[in-house]
Formats: sequence, structure tokens, C-alpha cells
Amino acid sequence: MTEEDVVTYEVVDQVARITLNRPDYRNAQNSKMTYALDAAFQRATDDDEVKVIVLAGNGKHFCAGHDIGTPGRDVDQTFERKAVIWWDHTDKEGGDQRFARESEVYLGMCRRWREIPKPVIAMVHGACIAGGLMLAWSCDFIIASDDAFFSDPVVRMGIPGVEYFAHPWVMNPRAAKEFLYSGDRFTAQRAEALGMVNQVVPAAELESTVLALAGRIAQMPRFGLALTKKAVNQAEDLQGMRAGMDSVFGLHHFAHAHNAEVGADSLGGLDAKSMAKKNKEQG
Ligand code: ZN
Repeated sequence: MTEEDVVTYEVVDQVARITLNRPDYRNAQNSKMTYALDAAFQRATDDDEVKVIVLAGNGKHFCAGHDIGTPGRDVDQTFERKAVIWWDHTDKEGGDQRFARESEVYLGMCRRWREIPKPVIAMVHGACIAGGLMLAWSCDFIIASDDAFFSDPVVRMGIPGVEYFAHPWVMNPRAAKEFLYSGDRFTAQRAEALGMVNQVVPAAELESTVLALAGRIAQMPRFGLALTKKAVNQAEDLQGMRAGMDSVFGLHHFAHAHNAEVGADSLGGLDAKSMAKKNKEQG
């Protein structure tokens, strides 16, 4: 298949369904996908017929993370920046380059999507790993199938978690430490017990459950939903999430820089393949 439609979009009964569509690469996020996703979210936001947005993944998995090794990896390319006002990363070096790029496509984009003024439901099945967590956590809530699992193994790279550091807010701090220190997969059931996932259902019922819930939410007034979302997001920020993420983003970039200073690259010499291998070895 071509990589033309890395994100698909459809609207049925007031619900916009936005689907990650790089199934051959477990929906690894390259920048092309990030900007396609952003365009889809903007489209759903602008369409008054759309009341609720569902974010899903095509294929066997929701999302295996950021693209750190597929043929479509496009970190060296320029896209029209949407999330933050900063300079283009492609003609910069070192930390200057990484900070510009990750402020825009990772932290900035996830924050932007968290503020979409319509309810967004993550419909998660299979793997939801690292950058995949960022997508799911940017949504208002998560409905997962019983085969879903969650992990953030980037501590293996010497980095304190993914760029959108919501861990201590989406689960309790002790669980967040276990999640990060071990790199272990948390099952959908465990994630539900920790409050990170709203509901776990059998895989065959995932879609119907999400659409039924979206349909009920769609009965609420559009503006009321927008204000309610803002109200809860503000409460989360008052609990320190936004400031906490900013401070961890600094640690995150310190780790990238340290890796680049003492080793082969900013990712501690690990790519998708070697990460998977190490995860397995430990498992
Ligand atoms: Zn990073």
C-alpha cells in the first residue's frame, strides 16, 4: 500500500472517526502522520455537524510509538509548523535542532490536541507504546479492548519517559514509577484499575461500545461540552500537569544531549528493532 493516506477521516452520525493508517509499521508516527492528524482534528473541530471525535488505529495495533526506524521516517523534513512558534529544525544542529523539533511535533502538538474543544475518545487495541501513549493521553479518555497493552520503555535509552510527560497525572505517582522503571507492559485491566483507562471491553465489542458512548455524548450541547472539557483540563493544569511537563521536557532534552555527548546518538544507540529485542530479553 502507498503511504498517501497515513490518516483517514470519516463522519458518521455526528462522530468523526480519525484513524492512524500505517498498519504495516504498527502505526508508527512520522511527521507526515502528525500533520495529517492535526489537519483531521482541525477539520473535525471546524465541522459543526461533528460533536465527538474518535481516534483509532488501523491494523493489529493502536500505535507502537514515534517512527524511529521505518523507511518513511522523515525527521529531516520540513513541515509547516502549527503547534509552537519556533524556527525550523532542519537547518540546525544538536540540542538546537532537537528542542525545536520536539517542541513542535511532540509536546506542542499533543498539548494542542488536548485542547481540541470537542470530546475526543481514544479507541485503543493492541500496542499503545511510548509515542502511542502521548496520542491516547491527549484524548479525553480511553476505551480499550482486552488485548490492549501500554508501555513506555524509553528509560532504556536513558531518557525519563516520553515527551508528553503525563505519567504521574494519568496514573498515580507510584504506578508511574513502576511503569517507567520497569518498562513493563501494563495490561488494559491494570490500566483500568489505575484509572488511566475508562473501560475495558472484549475486542469484538470495542467499536460498538465506543460508538454507543460517542452517540450519548453527542446528545449534549456542543458549547457545553467545550466548556466542560476546558473546566476539567484547567483543573488538571492546576494540579501541576502543565508546569510539570515543562520541567520534565528540560530533563528529557538533557538526556538526549547527554546521550549524544557520550554515545552514538541522542537515543542511546537504540532503534525500534533493538528496543523490541531488549524489551523481549527483559520480559
Ligand atoms: Zn525526545
